[in-house]
Amino acid sequence: MRIDCQPERAIADLRALADLTGGPDGARRLCWSEEWVKARGLVRERLAELPVEVDVDEAGNVWARLAGARPETVVIGSHVDSVPNGGWLDGALGVMGALETLRTIAAAGTPPCTVTLVDWADEEGARFGRSLFGSSAVCGTLDPAAVRDLRDAGGERLADVLARHGVDVETASAAGSRLADVRAYLELHIEQGPVLEAMGLPVGTVLGTFGVERHRVIFRGQAAHAGSTPMAQRRDSFLAAARFALAVRDLALPSGGVCTVGKADCEPGVVTAIPGVTTLLLDQRHLDADALAGLLASARALAEEAAAAEGCTVVFERIWQIEPIAFDPALIATARAACAEITGSDHALPSGPLHDAAEMARRVPTVMVFSSSTNGISHAREEDTPVEHLELAIRVYARTVGEAIARVADG
Ligand SMILES: [Zn+2]
Repeated sequence: MRIDCQPERAIADLRALADLTGGPDGARRLCWSEEWVKARGLVRERLAELPVEVDVDEAGNVWARLAGARPETVVIGSHVDSVPNGGWLDGALGVMGALETLRTIAAAGTPPCTVTLVDWADEEGARFGRSLFGSSAVCGTLDPAAVRDLRDAGGERLADVLARHGVDVETASAAGSRLADVRAYLELHIEQGPVLEAMGLPVGTVLGTFGVERHRVIFRGQAAHAGSTPMAQRRDSFLAAARFALAVRDLALPSGGVCTVGKADCEPGVVTAIPGVTTLLLDQRHLDADALAGLLASARALAEEAAAAEGCTVVFERIWQIEPIAFDPALIATARAACAEITGSDHALPSGPLHDAAEMARRVPTVMVFSSSTNGISHAREEDTPVEHLELAIRVYARTVGEAIARVADG
């Protein structure tokens, strides 16, 4: 099924959303807030113009179903929630691109299979620290016990805030019934990184999302007086940590993955004392599970070396991990072909950030399409993409959705 949409209508919808819920300080569609409800209201107004059934599931996700000749379903969408002072495109591009795609399909009559738009609830996790809330509930990876007592900056419990929006955390996973007839999921998003822009490309196909290993790395030496301890007789935990940080950078450079030391804390943390304990936060990501395990094993060895060189010891404590999630090879090939046809390039790249698509990929064939991001900036009000790139990305996405519909309809 060939879908030739009018991307300028999606751009107009994006601008309307930015006018309603953005401004000089950026987007303010923090999930479970009035502004977020307002943003969803705008999407609902647009959906009301289409022959779709709209409802909200047990986890707060909005679904808009365009019934097709067959019940088998292709799901398209993203999220309208944003981080505080966020950009106008993160999530919103995917929802408005899906809306334009749905609009185009509906205008052509009954599609050969059912097509459903989803607006996921709380992708960002910006308020309670738990990302991918709605999609994880649908995909069966949400543990109510792990989230119900999370508190926001104002001290409010997640369970209480969600209850005000009609969501019972204990039964949110009942939303999983929505997957019954789903055969594919496609999401359009901005890259949120500098790779496509650096290559001079407007659009790329996404291979999957990086796995993540997150650790606390604790170097222990000996705190001592900064004045009385000769340089040769020190066990400086910060120097061990510093050696390690540089070694980890060199480890990551040729790996195809990324490693980041995001925080360093010295104790006692005063200018007159050699740091006895230095704690680093280390984040490592790779698309390949074995490569990620290799990065972690190498980091452990490098930490031992760095510690030994400074007369210190080191331990790793795991904070969090998620495995790499690969998208569907057939859908990747379809998206690359559409991209080549429309933009002249079939470049594919991994995603460093997580997305709702990573949850959906556990359950159904999934792919994402990325537009470039200006200067690679996202989660900031400076977030932007040239309009020509947005339009090309929407066209590539709609074309790929059309192919997916045709394949599902053929059984
Ligand atoms: Zn997003």
